[in-house]
Amino acid sequence: AREHPHHPLALFDPRFGRWMQRQDQLTQQLRQALPREELRLLLQPQFDAAGVLRGAEVLLRWEHPDQGLLAPGDFVPVAERSGLIRPIGSWLLEQSLALLAGPLRDSHLNLSVNVSVQQLHDDTLVEQLEALLRRYPVGAGRLVLEVVESLLLAPGMETRLARLRDLGVEIALDDFGTGYSSLRYLQELSVDEIKLDKAFIDPLHQADDAPLARSIIALVRTLGLRLVVEGVESAHQLDFLRRQGVDLLQGYYLARPESPEAFLARLDAQAAT
Ligand code: C2E
Ligand code: CA
Ligand code: CA
Ligand code: CA
Repeated sequence: AREHPHHPLALFDPRFGRWMQRQDQLTQQLRQALPREELRLLLQPQFDAAGVLRGAEVLLRWEHPDQGLLAPGDFVPVAERSGLIRPIGSWLLEQSLALLAGPLRDSHLNLSVNVSVQQLHDDTLVEQLEALLRRYPVGAGRLVLEVVESLLLAPGMETRLARLRDLGVEIALDDFGTGYSSLRYLQELSVDEIKLDKAFIDPLHQADDAPLARSIIALVRTLGLRLVVEGVESAHQLDFLRRQGVDLLQGYYLARPESPEAFLARLDAQAAT
């Protein structure tokens, strides 16, 4: 114990040792997940206020060899600590662009992909996307990268975002309102879209009004940014948000994350009506 004064838990609490072991094991297994084709992407539909399908958010899943389907919360932190999020993130970007340039080519739909801290700090991200866009040419604005606001604090980030936007890639500020000094970013950063966090519309389960959501929506509209609200779970919330003039809506009430096949079938069904 005397040799490790900063890690007393590792020595005294067997739970910590077990946790470490499990993290190690998950990391080893995750390393195999790409070559073994265990990663899946799901698409959660996004609709405009008139109910027309406009695109989807790409959400990652892992078909774990013995634990079943894992949600990102179960393994994305492991992927980030181990650096595996980079190859995984590249794979996701390629899959998404292949969809946009392939089956979704004539649809005008957009796909939004979550980008992690490590990916955005990777100097090769811009080159990577440039190369991918040469292989999978898609029109400007069809690929949206979702970033969280804490990321945008990093030095040099503004330049990087500008280079991405030059490629025709749009930037969405994810989980808006859950970080710090959000309002200042809205003015200083060049983002195309704001995703209002679910927490702001949760009050609508109990109350008839959500004053905070109402004023943020008004603010974002004043700035001329596209506004997406996620986590729509009820008809009541949907009514309110449509009245407020939100651009895009996403949530379990409208559609759960689904396989790309189910999403394409949905698109066909809509085109047929
Ligand atoms: P997020 O970016 O905020 O994604 C939205 C999450 O909310 C998704 O969970 C989605 O399934 C869930 N959701 C959608 N509608 C509703 C609703 O009406 N009610 C509720 N309660 N939840 C709803 P999921 O797929 O488990 O993703 C969790 C988080 O994992 C994401 O949060 C995102 O931060 C991260 N993540 C997902 N995919 C990726 C990825 O490809 N790369 C990275 N780096 N992170 C990802
Ligand atoms: Ca997101
Ligand atoms: Ca979000
Ligand atoms: Ca979130």
